[in-house]
Amino acid sequence: MIIYKFGGVSVKNATAIKNICNIISKANRPLTVVISAIGTSTNLLEELVDAYFLGSNNVWEFYNQLENNHASVINDLFDHIPATLATDIKALFIELKTKISKPSSNQFNFEYDQLIGFGELLSTTIISAYLNDIGQNNKWIDIRSCLDSDDNYIDANINWESSKEKANAKFVSSPAALYVTQGFIASDSKGNTTSLGREGSDYSAAILAHLLDAEKMIIWKDVLGILNADPDYFETTSKLDLIPYHEAIELSYYGARVIHPKTIKPLQAKQIPLWVKSFIDPSQKGTLITKGEQAQPLLPNYIVKKKQVMVSLKPLNFSFIGEKDLVFIFSLVIKFRIKFNFTQNTAVSFAFCINSSSRNFNDLISELEKKYEIDISKDLELITVRHYNPITIEEIYQKHHVLVEQKNTNTAIYLTVAN
Ligand code: ASP
Ligand code: MG
Repeated sequence: MIIYKFGGVSVKNATAIKNICNIISKANRPLTVVISAIGTSTNLLEELVDAYFLGSNNVWEFYNQLENNHASVINDLFDHIPATLATDIKALFIELKTKISKPSSNQFNFEYDQLIGFGELLSTTIISAYLNDIGQNNKWIDIRSCLDSDDNYIDANINWESSKEKANAKFVSSPAALYVTQGFIASDSKGNTTSLGREGSDYSAAILAHLLDAEKMIIWKDVLGILNADPDYFETTSKLDLIPYHEAIELSYYGARVIHPKTIKPLQAKQIPLWVKSFIDPSQKGTLITKGEQAQPLLPNYIVKKKQVMVSLKPLNFSFIGEKDLVFIFSLVIKFRIKFNFTQNTAVSFAFCINSSSRNFNDLISELEKKYEIDISKDLELITVRHYNPITIEEIYQKHHVLVEQKNTNTAIYLTVAN
């Protein structure tokens, strides 16, 4: 089995969908194609969820927008819309409408997961129908019938044992097999939909690759592969030809935006090679992530996290920051599902950086205020350099106002003021 994963950008409109279907039609079989929601549908669904949870009438605005967006993609894609597709899409929108017509419970994460996956259900339904239309017979699989998870909504954990059996029963590796399925979602033991975290479709594809013992997986992106720096922020970048699994884990841990952080381990465990290739220029070789010692070429890798906020805490009772403080602070972070991008502690203070867009930020601060004097600095950036050298460090200091530097053998992290 080969696993392909296509993200939202690669299916953002009818032209993009035709392009990826062309790539699929040229691929070897058996093939499983994991697809995200069309374009930014998941963001729209998040707005819909927020409105629904608050009981706001805006929910219908978002619903209509979602329906119109998909209707126009379908209209652009087909000369004659297949009757089964029209029925399937209608059924999905009726299901969504029925859900949001009922009042929400007070369990935000649960409600989120019951609605957020509609983007993937819609995109895969449309693309599967289009592939059939152009003679690429395929089977649409509801991934929730294979991937079992716990009920940790919004960030569910896969039950590998039971999922393995189910997945192998559904995704049969016959010579002509072509399967189309959703990324991002799974289901809990009660049959409720769960989700695996934003941008989780890469991870879904890796889970399937692992469960089905795939021979390889390809993530199709709008870049030529993995670069040593984000071209949005750096003038000169180079493509990496090969990245060892352990290095890819480090890069995604520090925030490289190319691959979802959980993606590598399931592949590494079975030594399944992962390619990152361009859907715009599929003839280019891309980047291979596989076993190995060192990236090729070995270059300094830059990872920039914009829009960071630093929160510094000092105990109100003039004492030191001790282990109990750290336990308290980390338990709040887990409770509010906030991710630290950077931490620093001294005898009398503890500081951390988080994304300024973190949900629950205000709730976290009001809990912390009960025990600590709080200082908040905004408009910061974190620059991480893997495989730094004296020149790269000098450049950072020339170009940025560095507040804190943390260094170990391979990695240097700079907290800087945004330019
Ligand atoms: N559609 C989901 C998201 O945008 C999952 C994904 O794209 O990987 O977060
Ligand atoms: Mg997406």
